[in-house]
Amino acid sequence: MNLKIKACPCCKKLNFIWFLKEPPVIENNFRSFAGWSLIKTFNCRSCKEQLGIFTEKSQNLQKLAWLSEVRCEDNYVDDLRILREKQSSLSNNRDSEYYKVLNKIFYINNKIKSEKNKLKIKLKIEKKVFLN
Ligand SMILES: [Zn+2]
Repeated sequence: MNLKIKACPCCKKLNFIWFLKEPPVIENNFRSFAGWSLIKTFNCRSCKEQLGIFTEKSQNLQKLAWLSEVRCEDNYVDDLRILREKQSSLSNNRDSEYYKVLNKIFYINNKIKSEKNKLKIKLKIEKKVFLN
């Protein structure tokens, strides 16, 4: 068994997380983490929100994510990917179309940010958790 001590991405409290060296992979339906493996889900010991550990083998990456927040991002993953492709294809010729695309990306990112804030406020009210 491996032990990791990580701060909850939601409430920032430390969690002691045990997992197997070769953890069985859980079905990963999160589009924000396409290509990653979900190796563990659990609830934060402090705020009780559901968290997930994702790993990416080729680059040896590991990320602890708040799953409600990931779901917020998931709604916009495809739109953002298309816009970013457009942005890079237009980057040599920065005309009004390019700035229109940039504005759309900016708008979506703000939308995600505001949905995440709403999530935190809701949590704060429901569970009386102190979030920074
Ligand atoms: Zn927490």
